[in-house]
Amino acid sequence: MPILATKDIKLPSPPAIALRILEAVKKDDASFEDLARIIEVDPALTAKILKVSNSSFYSMASQINTIGKALSVLGLNVTKNIALSFVIAKELAGPAEGGFDFNYFWKRAVTSAVSAELLAAKLSYRNDDLFVSALLQDIGVLILYLCRPDEYRQVLDEKRVSGRPILDIEQRVFGFDHQEVGAELLAEWGLPESFSQTVGCHHKTDDCPPDLRMQADLLNWSTMLASIYFGSLSVEKGQQLKAEVCPRFKIKEEVIDSLIDEVAEKSVEILSTFDIDPGDMKPFSMLLQDANEELRRINLSYEQVVMQAKQARRKAEELATELLEANVKLREMAFRDGLTGLYNYRYFQELMDREVSRSMRHHLGLSLMLFDIDHFKDVNDTYGHPAGDKVLQNLAELVQSTMRISDIVVRYGGEEFAVILPSTDLGGCKVFATRLRRRVEEMETVVNGMIIRITISIGVTGYDVAQKSLDKTLMIKAADSALYKAKHGGRNRVEVELLPA
Ligand code: GH3
Ligand code: MG
Ligand code: MG
Repeated sequence: MPILATKDIKLPSPPAIALRILEAVKKDDASFEDLARIIEVDPALTAKILKVSNSSFYSMASQINTIGKALSVLGLNVTKNIALSFVIAKELAGPAEGGFDFNYFWKRAVTSAVSAELLAAKLSYRNDDLFVSALLQDIGVLILYLCRPDEYRQVLDEKRVSGRPILDIEQRVFGFDHQEVGAELLAEWGLPESFSQTVGCHHKTDDCPPDLRMQADLLNWSTMLASIYFGSLSVEKGQQLKAEVCPRFKIKEEVIDSLIDEVAEKSVEILSTFDIDPGDMKPFSMLLQDANEELRRINLSYEQVVMQAKQARRKAEELATELLEANVKLREMAFRDGLTGLYNYRYFQELMDREVSRSMRHHLGLSLMLFDIDHFKDVNDTYGHPAGDKVLQNLAELVQSTMRISDIVVRYGGEEFAVILPSTDLGGCKVFATRLRRRVEEMETVVNGMIIRITISIGVTGYDVAQKSLDKTLMIKAADSALYKAKHGGRNRVEVELLPA
């Protein structure tokens, strides 16, 4: 596959130690000792290689404590590739801040490399170069960003917003894509041709030479696996992978499911050897479980909130009803007389205001009657105060049963009452007063076997629609003076006082 010259892209030179490693293994008489010597010059690199050699990734039977032992157990090629991975990842670690997240890039790259290796093992495919080529498959992205940061940020933004394939956007912006840049870099750095060829077609594996097709496919699938942990389409990527791999290799989907989980577990371990914080990378099945639990919790708490809100509303409604009832009762209590249950003097004033203005507005007659029990003091004196109370209650009932429903009776004072008669002229009022006086005369209040009889004196006045004005105070005054006349006229009688014309 021809390597395209990437115009105006200045490829970084390879790290010196990488060059030496590549030189050493390229020799026909490549020896373990040569490679070991190059690696051991760098204590940090040596430590990393030993750490990864002893990780569960290779699950070696015995402890590997020297590069020499690593070389003899893992082989020249694998050890070389591990060394190259560390050296190149360190060289291109990039700044922590800025528009490009280098840490994220390498985290994803390492996860892809781990994925490629694990998937290859599941498919019984062996290739020592797989880890490094998977690790470096997107190296072109890094190079493009480093050389043309502003334009590449634009590419990344467009991909985020539109979701279009990154190769298309790169081709439009630069005239070439990151596959080509990566391939050129690896060729330039002297890595084996298979690296640049597979990296050069890892998105378009159909373009790959047949002998490298499986390696290129694995790079592509490793990206899908990594995307499960580093993308927004986790579930879709997993399904896409299964659709491509399961029928072709006749493996069950569960195998891929457990592989997906294994990717997270192994990646966390390998990331730490690369000094990359894996963050909270959890197996995908656990992430799904967490997500489901969270969903359940949210649903549950939502239901609880709704239920609590309903309860609160019911409670509020109950309280509002109680409050309303209490207010009505309070109002009643404020306007009613405790002994007889009739309206009290305070409310009488309000009632009179209301009835006076209504009469005026609707041109209706209005009468007022005041009556007072005759010699009531004697009743108390003779039968006792409680007996007097009973008489008052009895009288209140009698008045109510005698008057019309629209009439209003008020306990005006101790043993003095008022009846307001709306829409009633003086004549009608006189008729009612006379009837009431008679019925009171006949009324018997039985207390302790004794019969108490009373009489009342009544004063009435009335407003005639022919009259020009109606004044509450004058009306009360007139009724009061009529009552006075009745008392002085001998009691148990009805007297009238006309309103001033
Ligand atoms: P008059 O015919 O001139 O009206 O004579 P009276 O005895 O009815 O009038 P007076 O004003 O001298 O006495 C009123 C009595 O009514 C005195 C008072 O104890 C009694 N009285 C007032 N309120 C109540 C009450 O709620 N219960 C009882 N049992 N008696 C009451
Ligand atoms: Mg009296
Ligand atoms: Mg009195």
